[in-house]
Amino acid sequence: MSDGRFEKIALIGVGLIGSSIAHAARRVGLADRIVGSARTETTIQKALQLGVIDEGFASPAEAANGADLVMLCAPVGICGAIAAEINAANAFRDGAILTDVGSVKAAIVDDVAPHVPAGVHFVPGHPIAGTEQSGPESGFAELFDNRWCILTPPTGCDPAAVSQLKVFWEKLGSFVQTMSPEHHDLVLAITSHVPHLIAFNIVNTAAHLERVTDQEVIKFSAGGFRDFTRIAASDPTMWRDVFLNNKEAVLEMLGRFSEDLTALQRAIRFGDGDTLYRLFSDARMLRRGIVEAGQDTDAPDFGRRVTGASEPNTDE
Ligand code: NAP
Repeated sequence: MSDGRFEKIALIGVGLIGSSIAHAARRVGLADRIVGSARTETTIQKALQLGVIDEGFASPAEAANGADLVMLCAPVGICGAIAAEINAANAFRDGAILTDVGSVKAAIVDDVAPHVPAGVHFVPGHPIAGTEQSGPESGFAELFDNRWCILTPPTGCDPAAVSQLKVFWEKLGSFVQTMSPEHHDLVLAITSHVPHLIAFNIVNTAAHLERVTDQEVIKFSAGGFRDFTRIAASDPTMWRDVFLNNKEAVLEMLGRFSEDLTALQRAIRFGDGDTLYRLFSDARMLRRGIVEAGQDTDAPDFGRRVTGASEPNTDE
């Protein structure tokens, strides 16, 4: 029976997500040993200092060697090359589970699957939890508590491996749901990718204004803009890779978004208060649904916690 425990977990990438997995796994004793690899020596040393990993390696293949769980926690665009490197070095242990945490799924499956040898179980995943911070120092054990983790096991994948990974994520604090990679990408395009694009864009629009000064934008930001700036502070490498790898779904959702924005623009232009009121009421109802589902609190001030409490989880 699956107990979600592993002898050796190899984290390839020990930033926000990788280090949070390590902290959460240690919290409930899910691994005898956690090792890691990163792009730079500085990050490996930092992760060692913080106790995120027991041992660090410059090469992903060395880290993965002998691990019964290998987790790719690096930017989406590099995961294929990392899997290829591990495979070329013959470093995958027979019977190991290989997973990832990438924010896009279909492209990762295309990139990684060709490098998974027979006897290794590839079960792609994505924790719907995050913050705008990055690096090993930004991770914390509670990141996944009461958040969803989506698994996209390919057809024919060993059910025991899927079940073992599901239990692992549940013990990290998450709820787990399985779906196809394509459906994942469509859902996340509207719930995460397009909202981030809007945040990046509105922050840049404000920065380029001529008749409102930067000082005024900063001083009066609590009117709603401030929360866009928090999302727009997210890692540029990660988000570049998300948009390059979820092109179709993002473009489809952006098309819908533009049509709805045009409807609002028309209502404003023609003084159509009934339409504005109806559309804003619909949006308010959806927000209530999120709070009722326990995916955010109804704390006032655009979700800001009172002083001393932790930053809100942005549910990337
Ligand atoms: P992060 O904090 O920037 O960490 C990325 C890690 O990947 C760093 O340790 C980095 O090492 C390492 N890395 C980069 N290139 C590598 C390579 N070639 N080989 C080995 N390691 C490499 O990023 P993150 O937020 O944890 O994101 C990691 C993954 O999680 C991404 O795929 C992202 O889509 C997904 N995700 C992110 C969030 C979120 O909110 N941030 C939420 C869910 C899922 P260096 O520091 O040395 O560069």
